[in-house]
Amino acid sequence: MSEPSDSAPDAGGCDIDSTGPGVSAAGLGGANALGPKRLGLDSMQRGDAGQGERGLNGAEQDDAGPSGPGPASVVPQGADQRDSGAVDFGDRSFGAESSAQVTSAAVGSGSFIDVDVVIVGAGPVGLTLANILGGYGVRTRVVEERPTLIDYPRGVGLDDESLRTFQSIGLIEQILPHTTPNQFMRFVDGKRRLLAEIAPTDAQFGWPKRNGFVQPLVDAELSAGLSRYPHVEVVWGAGMNSATDSGDRVSIELATETGTSTVSARYLIGCDGGRSATRRQMGVSFEGTTSSTRWLVVDLATDPLGHPNLEVAADPARPNVSVSIAHGIRRFEFMIHDDESDELAEDPAFAQRLIAPFIPHPDRLEVIRRRVYTHHSRIAGSFRKGRMFLAGDAAHLMPVWQGQGYNSGIRDAANLGWKLAAVVTGKAGDGLLDSYDLERRKHARAMIDLSTMVGKVISPTDRKVAAARDVLVRAAAAIPPVRRYVLGMRFKPMPKYEQGAVVHTWSRTTKSAVGTLFIQPRVDTREQSNVLLDEVLGPWFAVLCWNNAPRRVLGDTAFGQWKALGARFFEILPVNQLHWTGHDDPDVTILADRGGALKKWFDGQQDSVLFLRPDRCIAGASIAQLAPELSADLLRTLTVVPGGGPDAAGTVLRLAQPST
Ligand SMILES: Cc1cc2nc3c(=O)[nH]c(=O)nc-3n(C[C@H](O)[C@H](O)[C@H](O)COP(=O)(O)OP(=O)(O)OC[C@H]3O[C@@H](n4cnc5c(N)ncnc54)[C@H](O)[C@@H]3O)c2cc1C
Repeated sequence: MSEPSDSAPDAGGCDIDSTGPGVSAAGLGGANALGPKRLGLDSMQRGDAGQGERGLNGAEQDDAGPSGPGPASVVPQGADQRDSGAVDFGDRSFGAESSAQVTSAAVGSGSFIDVDVVIVGAGPVGLTLANILGGYGVRTRVVEERPTLIDYPRGVGLDDESLRTFQSIGLIEQILPHTTPNQFMRFVDGKRRLLAEIAPTDAQFGWPKRNGFVQPLVDAELSAGLSRYPHVEVVWGAGMNSATDSGDRVSIELATETGTSTVSARYLIGCDGGRSATRRQMGVSFEGTTSSTRWLVVDLATDPLGHPNLEVAADPARPNVSVSIAHGIRRFEFMIHDDESDELAEDPAFAQRLIAPFIPHPDRLEVIRRRVYTHHSRIAGSFRKGRMFLAGDAAHLMPVWQGQGYNSGIRDAANLGWKLAAVVTGKAGDGLLDSYDLERRKHARAMIDLSTMVGKVISPTDRKVAAARDVLVRAAAAIPPVRRYVLGMRFKPMPKYEQGAVVHTWSRTTKSAVGTLFIQPRVDTREQSNVLLDEVLGPWFAVLCWNNAPRRVLGDTAFGQWKALGARFFEILPVNQLHWTGHDDPDVTILADRGGALKKWFDGQQDSVLFLRPDRCIAGASIAQLAPELSADLLRTLTVVPGGGPDAAGTVLRLAQPST
């Protein structure tokens, strides 16, 4: 089913059908720790957010933005700023200089700005992408129609891939305090007897697989992180009216407090949520379905239960969810029956009545927020059209049951960010950007399907159907391999790119790791001990050889090409060989496999030479002798230009784009 954009769903994977009153004055300890101005959360704390939309945006009345109003005037981002922001990708640093965070009042009416990339929407996806581009020195402007960040609670589950991306943008230390690691998920029946449990304990990508988090606080950290980049600017209160792709640039008209202004950019990325105006400008469909069920979501401060983890009750009387997240917050979610009106769902007494069976004192609740949501399962017909792209909820919406809406958007940003940086700095041809849709679509689709399926399993209200489901689930869970499969969350679709900015060689077998994410164990170098692998690999391409010297394996030509591209080179050795100097090369770092995870990984493969992309996807892999040929194929496929530069033109591989 295709839906006209005007009636397309709202942000967050869910319609915001109503705003619940009842904000507690108790507030959030975590919010205090960071300062309400920065967080835009004071509406929660003041308890003045109970008045519909006005209450929702209570903080907007006096906050110019999450980091305050910033400089009084906009710093124009002309071409002459490129040098100040440009950094060597192989040695990306996070500067101390400030980016501008301004209100649209500071943008003169009729003004014209020229940048490399415009991001529409300062949600988590737009902000993450801006941080990635900022780190690569790309002149970026984020335009956000709201005066502040969205402060109402939405996402509660972060995965290991998102944390790895936050690590890559240098914000992991700021974000971790708003997360709870190892948030396990229990499915129970109507009598609260265990049906199935998801409790993965490994951390192959460097971080726990399931983490509770407070979305507004993490989003605020993403916003604050932009202050490191003088070449990134966020304009609050500037909504995109229209966008025109003239072939070599996109022109974006903004509605500001003082009138309209125009931004011209090489690329426009629509991170503007479920009701994306960018998608409308692109004329792209948003295929899928909208669930007929509504859910009441209530967030409480000073968690009245206090126990960790997440319980999904497939109770035919009323399916419900109870989740512990960081900073003493508990979320309850309840399915609303068809015969229960919207007015009833919005009544504070109704929420209290639904929560009452779970706690002894329902009269002592500290309600942060209540909202009614509807779930959508939708995907945009194309993630790219000309110079315009879609990312996050603008590109795909999914029910919350796997907690993957936010995480899927962060995956988009990680996939697109380095490609945009490579193209706008002349290190790669525009064709590289076609791989974004090719790589992300299939995976986003798989997440939508999984989330929709889980929703169907937990939500039957017919007692016979629910009883039959319980019998089936219990029987399956009694089979040890099935139980382990669910427990370890091995059903989660992981990215594996068959097509795109990857090269599959002779080893293209089911065992080939090409197109998947490389693991992130802890390693030693001669200078550092017990560090996460990505910290050593750096933010750009990396060439890894197990037990071989990269220059000898690649040959001088290929080695020189990757070096010119800014890649780093690593020879991985068992930890006992760390100080052996026989292969020393000034361009190569010796990596010691301190816990044996790397040897175990290579043991399971046929290949020993890896070319890693900046997003840590394995772009190509081969045995040592085939590395020079693979290198040549990769440079062609990635359309990268060793040496690069604004005037360089690469061999552009045209990848077919899906039709809209
Ligand atoms: C109840 C609930 C629970 C959830 N739980 C989880 C979970 O556990 N895990 C998970 O991964 N995800 C979860 N999600 C989903 C997650 O919250 C969203 O997927 C995520 O916020 C989407 O981020 P985004 O940046 O794409 O869009 P948004 O956060 O919606 O941001 C879009 C931004 O664009 C702005 N904008 C819109 N139009 C314009 C315009 N024309 N001009 C300028 N700016 C514009 C908006 O004001 C907004 O700030 C949940 C969502 C809900 C509602």
